[in-house]
This record gives sequence, structure tokens and C-alpha cells, in this order.
Amino acid sequence: MKYFIRTYGCQMNHSDSERIAGVLELANYEKSSQESDADLIVINMCSVRESAVSRISGNFHKYKKYIITNPNLKTVITGCVLDSDKEKFGELFDLVIDIREIEKLPERLKSMSTNKILPEFKTSQPSLSGGTKSSSSNQKSMIFRKARNDKEKLEIENTYDYFSINPQHESKITAYVPIMTGCNNFCSYCVVPYTRGREKSRMVDEIIDEIAKLIENGYKEIILLGQNVNSYQPDENTNFPKLLRLINDIPGHFWIRFLTSHPKDISEELIKTVALCEKCTEYIHLALQSGDDDILKIMNRKYTAEHFLILVQMIRKNISNVAITTDIIVGFPTETIEQLQNTAEIMKKIKFDMAYINKYSPREGTVSAKMTDNVSWDEKKEREVILNKILKETALENNQKYVGKVVEVLVDKIDGDFIFGKTKSFKSVKIGIINYKSRIKEGEFLKVKITEAEFWNLEGEVVE
Ligand code: SF4
Repeated sequence: MKYFIRTYGCQMNHSDSERIAGVLELANYEKSSQESDADLIVINMCSVRESAVSRISGNFHKYKKYIITNPNLKTVITGCVLDSDKEKFGELFDLVIDIREIEKLPERLKSMSTNKILPEFKTSQPSLSGGTKSSSSNQKSMIFRKARNDKEKLEIENTYDYFSINPQHESKITAYVPIMTGCNNFCSYCVVPYTRGREKSRMVDEIIDEIAKLIENGYKEIILLGQNVNSYQPDENTNFPKLLRLINDIPGHFWIRFLTSHPKDISEELIKTVALCEKCTEYIHLALQSGDDDILKIMNRKYTAEHFLILVQMIRKNISNVAITTDIIVGFPTETIEQLQNTAEIMKKIKFDMAYINKYSPREGTVSAKMTDNVSWDEKKEREVILNKILKETALENNQKYVGKVVEVLVDKIDGDFIFGKTKSFKSVKIGIINYKSRIKEGEFLKVKITEAEFWNLEGEVVE
């Protein structure tokens, strides 16, 4: 039996897909390089944007075609799925499974009655916005609704074994390692606390064992993942800086990155730990979201623009050559052009290396979805352009400071006549191979002299 996983969303979802692959391979499924050849298609979805939900619904006609040539095909959806969407997806997919109980996927697939379910996909025409329901899909929805009661949710929390799954990593160089999941912050626009539940930290020993094995197996970059890594607290004696120090003590030459940090929780202890641990990278992703205090309040972000600025100053003072990236939402309900200007001003002061600027769109089930989405899409696009212009200027200015410097680069790809890699500060570097091709390998650290800087990447040459 062959499986294919389609992943939407952030690094956390990609990490989840590596664990889904681990579960399936343990059950003797083989990876299919093409969706159309698979006997099992798993959609690992993201609910952060409404567009992802619509895209999955729109793509479903493809799977109905595949079922005609492969009547045994099964389709599964998991990931960041809101309860309201789970019911709708239950009408399309053979199985909707909570990511927190993904280790039970093979068992659930075995117990499914193929003959009873699959013919319905060929004859019915369900859609997420309503549409024809078959009796079988009605039945599935009813079973699903029954399973979503509070008792079952509690059982999912109590039997949660997700962290102990052995993942099948996509890369041989970089490994995602989840250290916590869930979120207690309830930002007013975000679905994560509803789809992933409350924060749960993984035990230290389990994390250290997993990373030590990865390093033994040649991995060079470890990316610690959590919706809010600064809140990592598996017991009263352990916090995130302590975990970083323990990982830093694992022998070997490798880099440590982490995502994502919430500004309200980032501490001086954490910043100083990153500065002191030689394996921690000079890179901090800190989501600003808005530079206006009133908008931050409505977003329930629990910090002010001034506090954010103080944090950035502390980071720059302690971590030399640090690159700082961020997330920003434009056109949040009630945002005026003056409030957008406050975001523009703080961007000019901070000089981000990268900002992921998103136009606000409401997500059903969140607090902000109850507010009037009063900034038009065209206006949001214009605001995005204003901020992107500032970002391009500051990113180029920051990159130009690298020209002439020798930096360490981790090679992640050799393609044609070029080597591609990343600096410790997460800058992409392109290097012409010419004489070095025969002896340079992916996963190697190189000393590179930067010769050119562009907006989003650097160019350089290997230092002999
Ligand atoms: S911190 Fe806010 S934006 Fe991030 S996952 Fe939690 S609720 Fe969502």
C-alpha cells in the first residue's frame, strides 16, 4: 500500500507530516512520489487562512477521479482543523482524525469498511459549502459528531502519545523537533488554541535522546518547534533556556534554531542563553503583528509596541550579527491608516531582515471573526505594499553589511553549477561551484566570503 501526504501551513504542520509518515511506514505503507499512484492520501491541513480550507475543498474533485482508477483509495484529513470544519470534511473524506491521536491512524484505517464508504464518493457530490449528502456520509458525520463530545476530547488529551512517534524526516540535514504543542494565548484572530488545544510540553529526556540520535545520524541543523517555545515548561525546574543549554551540551558540530517566540514571554535569561550557547543560531523570529498599541490590544497580544522595541534592543545588544524576522497582519478590523503608519514607523526603527506580511482574513470560531471586517481587500493590498517597500529597504541594508565578511554556511543543496546554503543568521547564500564541485557535499559547513547582497539572499565564494 502506498501513501502520499499533502501538507499545508507552517513548519509545525510539516513536522507533523514527518510523524504521520513515521506511523504509516511502521505499518508497512510505502511512500508514493505521486498523489495519483497512492492508495492512501493524507491531507495535513492548516486552518490559519480561510483560503487553505477552500483550496482543499476545491481539490477534492481530483481524488474522486483517482477513486475511479483505484477503488481502494482512502482519503484522510488531519492537522489544524476546526471542529466546525471537521464536520464538513467528514462529508468528503473517508476519515477525519485529530493530529493528537495520529498514532492510531493505521488501526482506524483497518477498521474502516471500504465497500461501504468508497462507492459514495463516485456518486455523491458533496461540497464544503453544503451540497448533496449521501446516506453514508450522513452516517459518517453522525459518528464524527458523537466522537467530538467532551469526554472523547479529554481521552485524546490523556492518551496523547504524539511526541513518542518516530518521524520520517524529509531532509537528511535539517530536522524539525517538536518540543511543545498547543497554545494558551488566544490571540483574537487565531484558531490554534481551538485546533491544537492548550500548551503541552514534551519531557526533556525524550527531546535530548531524539536530538542526540539525529546528530549521530549526521543531522547538522535542529529546529525546535512549538506554537510558543518560550512557554516550554515540562516541570517546575525546567524552562526553555535550560533546555537550550542541555541541547548545546550534546557533542558534535550542529546548529540550533527555534520557532516561534511570543514577545510577551521572551526573557532576558533566554536572550543571554542564546548569546552564550555557541550552537544557538544568530536568528530570532519574533511576531510583531502590529505596531499600534490599540490594535495589539484588540488582537489580545498582551504587549505594547514600546515593549517590543525594548526586546529588540536587548536582543541586538546581546547577540551579535543577529537577524530578526517577524509576522505582521495588515487591515485588522478597525485598523486606520494612522495605525498602519505606527506599524510602518516601528518597522523602520527595527529594520527587520524579513517580515511575513499577511492581509487579515477572518477565521470562523475566533473572537475577531465576530468583528466587522471593515478594511476592504484593495485597501489591505495597498497597506501590504507600503510595508513591503520598507521591508525591502531594510532587508537590503542589513544584507549589504555582509559584503566582504567571511561567514559559516551550511550547504543544503548542490544544483548545477551552484551550491546553496544558509548562514547561521538564516540568510540564503548562493555560491558558484566551479573548482570546488568534486569535494563539497550537502550537509557540509563551509567558510564563505560574501561578495554580493540582494534583497533576499547573498552571493559568495568558498574561502580556501
Ligand atoms: S501565540 Fe497567538 S498567534 Fe501564536 S499560536 Fe498562540 S494564539 Fe495563535
